[in-house]
Amino acid sequence: MGKIQELDRQLANKIAAGEVVERPASVVKELVENAIDAGATEITVKVKEAGLVSIGVTDNGSGILEEDIPLAFGRHATSKIHNNHDLFHIRTLGFRGEALASITSVSRVTLKTCADNAVGHLVKIENSDMIEKTLTRAKKGTEVLVEDLFYNTPARLKYVKSLHTELGKITDIMNRFAMSHTHIRFKLESDDKVLLQTTGSGRLNEVMAQVYGMTIARDLIAINGQTGDYEVTGEIARPEHTRANRHYMSLFINGRYIKNFVLTKAILEGYHTLLPIGRYPVVAIDIKMDPGLVDVNVHPTKQEVRLSKEPELMELITRLIKEALLGQSLIPEITVPK
Ligand code: ADP
Ligand code: MG
Repeated sequence: MGKIQELDRQLANKIAAGEVVERPASVVKELVENAIDAGATEITVKVKEAGLVSIGVTDNGSGILEEDIPLAFGRHATSKIHNNHDLFHIRTLGFRGEALASITSVSRVTLKTCADNAVGHLVKIENSDMIEKTLTRAKKGTEVLVEDLFYNTPARLKYVKSLHTELGKITDIMNRFAMSHTHIRFKLESDDKVLLQTTGSGRLNEVMAQVYGMTIARDLIAINGQTGDYEVTGEIARPEHTRANRHYMSLFINGRYIKNFVLTKAILEGYHTLLPIGRYPVVAIDIKMDPGLVDVNVHPTKQEVRLSKEPELMELITRLIKEALLGQSLIPEITVPK
């Protein structure tokens, strides 16, 4: 008899989880991405003890059809791509069909979902298996509650840093979602304290006022421009507001937060000598492009991308920033909700 055997489902899911679910913030990221993909206009995230006790994400999106519920947390099961062409034209944040499968293999998950504003379904999943399924009253949308994260993977639990660090990472991710999806009302609560709340007004400078404070928000300059392939919009802070690292530079491609060395360089080049050595600006920039020009299937966390026609895009970004800084007398009007 041969020695090779296929891994069972639970084990395979746990191995995948190692890549996708690194820490509590990864769970927040995946669940909020699903809520955004479901067309939600309101997304609330509640965490207890930096997500280690629980993470709850509620949305008013499409909900999941009853027959799709078991598939939703199956591995490689997705409603977002169907064929090879789709894989190279991704319009959603998710597409790998792995997040829920991974999360349900390393925590206890309760999913409540309603696709038609009447009857809802509540299921509990443990160790990748559905252990309970009942009907419940619910509004249209989905609520996912993740409890006891990493209870069955003690090594991963040990790797998790202080609650302070983990909560910082969650806040960070939520801030970036709020900046990239200004039309969505986001709320982040940690142990009943509200850490972020946005109005969904669609105004990036308002969101940046919430995230970075009024001092920065008052000194933002809007940028906007396009070439044949790319459209760039965003807000950049005047060069007197610099930071010691690149962390305050947020880059989004089609609404997805990404890290990209070359584009970061293009931004810095735009500021050029206005930045002291070793200092970085505060910016949030979204680039809209045909999804066929960007490959997001590089890494499971989807933060790394490969771009076509990179030089054209770099030039556009650098030019827009240079022009904006030259016409510096513009002061944006800011209204901040209470
Ligand atoms: P992916 O997002 O890559 O498709 P996931 O494992 O994150 O994979 O989710 C699996 C499927 O479950 C999604 O394709 C979607 O159809 C459904 N789903 C998950 N979360 C939600 C949600 N909040 N609202 C509606 N559908 C959802
Ligand atoms: Mg997903």
